[in-house]
Amino acid sequence: MFDTLQDRLQSAFKSLRGKGRLSEADIDAVAREIRVALLDADVAVPVVRDFIANVKERARGSEVSQALNPAQQVIKIVNDELVTILGGETRRIQYAKNPPTVIMLAGLQGAGKTTLAGKLGLWLKGQGKSPMLVAADLQRPNAVNQLQVVGGQAGVTVFAPEPGNGIGDPVKVATDGLAEARRTLHDVVIVDTAGRLGIDAELMQQAADIRAAVDPDEVLFVIDAMIGQDAVVTAEAFLEGVDFTGVVLTKLDGDARGGAALSVRSITGRPIMFASTGEKLTDFDAFHPDRMASRILD
Ligand code: GDP
Repeated sequence: MFDTLQDRLQSAFKSLRGKGRLSEADIDAVAREIRVALLDADVAVPVVRDFIANVKERARGSEVSQALNPAQQVIKIVNDELVTILGGETRRIQYAKNPPTVIMLAGLQGAGKTTLAGKLGLWLKGQGKSPMLVAADLQRPNAVNQLQVVGGQAGVTVFAPEPGNGIGDPVKVATDGLAEARRTLHDVVIVDTAGRLGIDAELMQQAADIRAAVDPDEVLFVIDAMIGQDAVVTAEAFLEGVDFTGVVLTKLDGDARGGAALSVRSITGRPIMFASTGEKLTDFDAFHPDRMASRILD
């Protein structure tokens, strides 16, 4: 995902090699190169602006260190700033004091929500939980069936509406699913919801209604890291529509420029909690800002 960004940053740092001390002009030059590298990776403009301002300020103020030469100091500063824009600490799921913990998924169609439901279910099982998936995406004809398939692959129970009763009411499916999870003592409920290809007022309202009905402990906004500059508007619309508590980045295995991954935390103020890196159910893990920053700079 970040190959080009990685190369561009490396070449920016290269120009500092062998320098004994950084002049103002050196700092300006390297900051300019980092700025272009980030913008070309589709990182949102305000995020880049703050990032560069911080790098410059810290590079100017950096102590002449015995241990690090100027190039290493700048790399360290860029690393720290990447960790910061990615959210600093790893943010874990906040489980309900009284189970079941309710996790609602929201995002555009194709973002990877249904796949994620299976991945998260499997991951939660690995954490010793007993999750249940609830198929409240009644918009896409095949969504319920697809959730049943991934649930089966993950070995996780799926609550789905009875077929053949027309389109059905997703809010009722969500609340029925929650009641069923309580009855059958599942301790985490993952509610899959519908999305369209673009932002859609009607579906956003539906997601908001589901949110109001099931009162989730976490609302995870699922976003395809390959969508580039559209990430900002999409994230802002879902923040307003469903006030999500965390972000899941999907398709980090793609070869797009990845700016969504680097912008979404700063734009929304919500932590990135998980990352998906492939189509297999096991291509998924908790998101660690420090590890991601190291990967970009490696
Ligand atoms: P939904 O419409 O949001 O429910 O999206 P789906 O779960 O149906 O996913 C859409 C497509 O993206 C499917 O073909 C998935 O296999 C694929 N997909 C989901 N997550 C990933 C990922 O992390 N990497 C890759 N390469 N493909 C993914």
